[in-house]
Amino acid sequence: MNGEPAFDYLIVGAGFAGSVLAERLASVLGKKVLICDKRNHIGGNAYDHFDAAGLLVHKYGPHIFHTNSADVFNYLSKFTAWREYQHRVLASVDGQLLPIPINLDTINKFYGLNLTSREVDDFLDTVAEQRNPVRTSEDVVVNRVGQELYSKFFKNYTRKQWGLDPSELEAQVTARIPVRINRDDRYFTDQFQSMPRRGFTHMFENMLDHPNIKILLNCDYREVQDAFTFGQMIYTGPVDAFFDYRFGKLPYRSLEFRHETHDRERFQPAPVVNFPNDYAFTRITEFKYLTGQEHRKTSIVYEFPQAEGDPYYPVPQPANAKIYAQYRALADTTPGVHFVGRLATYKYYNMDQVVAQALTVFKNIAAAEAAGALSNGEIKPAATRTVGRNRVHNKPGRRPVLQPART
Ligand SMILES: Cc1cc2nc3c(=O)[nH]c(=O)nc-3n(C[C@H](O)[C@H](O)[C@H](O)COP(=O)(O)OP(=O)(O)OC[C@H]3O[C@@H](n4cnc5c(N)ncnc54)[C@H](O)[C@@H]3O)c2cc1C
Repeated sequence: MNGEPAFDYLIVGAGFAGSVLAERLASVLGKKVLICDKRNHIGGNAYDHFDAAGLLVHKYGPHIFHTNSADVFNYLSKFTAWREYQHRVLASVDGQLLPIPINLDTINKFYGLNLTSREVDDFLDTVAEQRNPVRTSEDVVVNRVGQELYSKFFKNYTRKQWGLDPSELEAQVTARIPVRINRDDRYFTDQFQSMPRRGFTHMFENMLDHPNIKILLNCDYREVQDAFTFGQMIYTGPVDAFFDYRFGKLPYRSLEFRHETHDRERFQPAPVVNFPNDYAFTRITEFKYLTGQEHRKTSIVYEFPQAEGDPYYPVPQPANAKIYAQYRALADTTPGVHFVGRLATYKYYNMDQVVAQALTVFKNIAAAEAAGALSNGEIKPAATRTVGRNRVHNKPGRRPVLQPART
């Protein structure tokens, strides 16, 4: 433990954010990386595994990969082959299963009409309720499709999902829900829509398969940060936890997953069926659609939204944005620690967005290293700096070492 740090980087969290950075730092810059996760597996929320029946399932609910970024897709393609997959969702409303996002068929079946694409926009104009300004999620939807579609498809689903009425949520929550005047029933329209052919976990295994990367599971970083010396930290856990909740707890919405296996080939007529108005769960996913696996049984998962539990969805409300802004300011001025990913930046990101964010952070690190190496042949020295509960000791000509503060 004397002299040089055992690891150049300690990476907290082995999800997309942590794994992409581990891979880049090790493969491109030759850094020694220790990546730890408090769970007993890599992959973060995208983790998948074979269940007792031998069916590939997503432990933390359905994860569908879609992106418009060729850079992100090409990067991940180094670690997996793909299976093309177009996601489809039906909503169970008034005894019918109707396409979501709302399209021409949804409107025709729901209202018992026979409108054409040309007519449907005019029809929506007659039912839509002008809201000005558009501030909340309710405003967004009512403004576009009116009260009835809003009540049957969005209102109760949102209340279940967030534990809040859409009128209490920022517009961004539903701003990205499209309404289509054609019969396109794909859930996403991104350029790249594919699932890793052998699953997400297999892809993560390939990413982390590098002699410079050591993986530590079942381990909260606070348990190991004193046991190893390291240069810098990449932190992908909740930002409020890092700073010991000093500005208060950032609220998250959580989920309970109920996994089941059924002794039949198919359970439902679509990969996901939403239940906006009935039951405590929001949706049921049947994994064989996502994975393409052939099996005489089938596995499904129910999602029950709840307040307590693992942090999954940052709650987009102005009061929370204010709290986060305080943490963000602190994070920005915390040297030696990079805050990356969904929890560390308190933002709902899809997988591709987290990969893009991690690749950008990597580029910045690489550029800073190159600049430091150019200026003095090594990394720039600095005075001793405090990092959270730790202290960074920099000596000229030596990489900074993160050590526990003596308190
Ligand atoms: C139900 C659900 C469905 C989703 N579906 C999709 C989808 O279809 N498509 C899509 O693109 N995205 C989807 N997402 C989003 C996707 O899960 C995230 O974009 C992605 O997982 C974020 O990666 P991350 O690395 O930022 O965070 P995470 O995957 O959450 O990884 C962070 C890791 O840090 C670990 N950690 C936290 N604190 C500590 C600590 N103190 N010590 C050690 N380890 C710690 C955690 O255990 C976790 O494994 C979905 C998310 C959820 C919840």
